[in-house]
Amino acid sequence: MLVGHQPKEFLLAVEALTVSFDGFKAVNDLSLYVDENEIRVIIGPNGAGKTTVLDLICGKTKATSGSIQFRGKELTRMKENEIVKTGVGRKFQNPSIYDDLTVFENLEISYPRGRSVFGALTFTRDAAVRDRVHEVAEMIFLKDRLNVNADLLSHGQKQWLEIGMLLIQDPDLLMLDEPVAGMSVSERAKTAELLNRIIKNRSVLVIEHDMKFVEDIAHKVTVLHQGQILSEGTMEKVKNDPKVVEVYLGH
Ligand code: ADP
Ligand code: MG
Repeated sequence: MLVGHQPKEFLLAVEALTVSFDGFKAVNDLSLYVDENEIRVIIGPNGAGKTTVLDLICGKTKATSGSIQFRGKELTRMKENEIVKTGVGRKFQNPSIYDDLTVFENLEISYPRGRSVFGALTFTRDAAVRDRVHEVAEMIFLKDRLNVNADLLSHGQKQWLEIGMLLIQDPDLLMLDEPVAGMSVSERAKTAELLNRIIKNRSVLVIEHDMKFVEDIAHKVTVLHQGQILSEGTMEKVKNDPKVVEVYLGH
């Protein structure tokens, strides 16, 4: 543990996290602390363990040892669905949207159930859901596409829709794995704008390779290499770190 820091000060405190796959440590004694309202970007070469870190936080992969505290709750002992309910949303590399449903319907089915304060008043709940769908659709630049089938969206719009399907659940931590891969330059800029807007109420943990995009969004950058932190700090600090240039940026 860091001297002078109690994990509870952080939204997310990962400490001494290790996962071993048949003796290979994909994540090796990793400690990482994310603040409230922070956009943290994880960069690093292929195979560094970036996706595995997200898998561990969302409960898809079980840690071999170490701890993941989220708002003081230990995630390593929780199931995936319990972790979602605690307020952690995770987007995978390939969008998992429903192609045969409209944008509206995709957002609507993602609205959390059993959280309504309106009880049996279905029409009131419906209105609340509709309002929230419209609000989120505006955020993800799809308010003019609500009645379009998801399979007709561009690649970038599909990525935004999936972010919207997570946003509608109002997670406190949103995790995104390479969200701008395959996007056009203007879609990347809009995605940066989107992330900068949504952190008013949450933190975001992003894996990304696109350095322009990282510069646009990162409050802090963590560079992973062989399951460990190679460097961490502001983009400015990290990109001038000779170790980072050697193993990652120089290539
Ligand atoms: P990155 O996202 O940084 O490219 P990954 O986290 O996907 O890297 O993978 C890190 C390393 O762990 C790779 O060598 C990968 O092959 C290995 N790995 C990831 N998941 C598993 C798994 N479920 N079983 C065995 N090895 C895995
Ligand atoms: Mg990956």
